[in-house]
Amino acid sequence: MKAATAYIDTRALRQNMRLIRQQAPGCKLLAMVKANGYGHGLEQVATGLPDADGFGVARIEEALSLRACGVVKPILLMEGFYSPSDLPVLVTNNIQTVVHTIEQLEALEQATLEMPVKVWLKIDSGMHRLGVRPEEFQPFVDRLHASPNVAQPLRYMSHFACADELDSPVTDSQIQTFMSLTQGCRGERSLANSAGILAWPDSHLEWIRPGIIMYGISPFADKAHSAEAYGMQPVMTLTSSVIAVRTVKQGEAVGYGGSWVSERDTKVGVVAIGYGDGYPRTAPNGTPVLINGRLVPIAGRVSMDMLTVDLGPDASDQVGDEAILWGQGLPAEVIAEHVGTIAYELVTKLTSRVSMAYR
Ligand SMILES: *Cc1c(COP(=O)(O)O)cnc(C)c1O
Repeated sequence: MKAATAYIDTRALRQNMRLIRQQAPGCKLLAMVKANGYGHGLEQVATGLPDADGFGVARIEEALSLRACGVVKPILLMEGFYSPSDLPVLVTNNIQTVVHTIEQLEALEQATLEMPVKVWLKIDSGMHRLGVRPEEFQPFVDRLHASPNVAQPLRYMSHFACADELDSPVTDSQIQTFMSLTQGCRGERSLANSAGILAWPDSHLEWIRPGIIMYGISPFADKAHSAEAYGMQPVMTLTSSVIAVRTVKQGEAVGYGGSWVSERDTKVGVVAIGYGDGYPRTAPNGTPVLINGRLVPIAGRVSMDMLTVDLGPDASDQVGDEAILWGQGLPAEVIAEHVGTIAYELVTKLTSRVSMAYR
């Protein structure tokens, strides 16, 4: 009997990739594999995507892991390097970097490097998290052009704040700001995350940067724009096993704090997964679990190693049966909605106790 196991369907990953390419024909594709491939396994995702034109990561350690497992494609540090001593590491390992601060610019100007670094200048087009402000753009470009440590031509990128909100005016305004600043610039440009790829074709430009949608999860909250509606399939299916089926009488409370009281005589299934595996403790009563083709509700608080579901009085489920927590047949987006988070957080938060199975 298997405890918490995340099955990773690399065929679905490649199929999602093909559909993404159809959405943005002719664009180069930077596959976002930061945070351990959104929890799916950095190396396995990267090597499962032979078709990607490059990989986007957040930390230099992630870039080095990719190189260590034989990835030779371009790799881009999305937040840039954190310390001047990273620069020789970027050169040695052929890692590209975003530049968004004056500190990074000065470090580049002052470094002594064996080869120039490939730089993407990040523009703050309206998200106001990272990036150079529009009025700082030209001075940054001039100094980056003047530095022998920077490979030419420069590349340009920005990031969307609200691309998942289809009626928000922010995205059009960000696209416009970005386009007017980079108009006439020679280098390649990149704007689109998953939501940009699916909903904002004006943002496609030379490079798209799909993350969550590659993993078969929609960036949009509304069901009309589910991943399935785009033909995408969940790559991760998180499963565990039923380890007990118990009789619970009407009026009896189940689990810590007795937070769920049965309204009828029923059978309760105990599933071997809990917050120690990364299943959110905040999942409330009623959050669905898929067992033997039926959605059954969580009943009682999620514990560290287990959770309990109301199987119903007539259930014939047995010890050893598989329980699907999210994935094929039960989108992670549905669980995220019950929990009050986004599916990005669910898949990236699995703990090392979950065994990963690739097929
Ligand atoms: C993570 C990330 C993406 C991908 O975002 P998704 O919403 O997962 O598609 C794109 N660009 C940058 C800069 C990112 O950090």
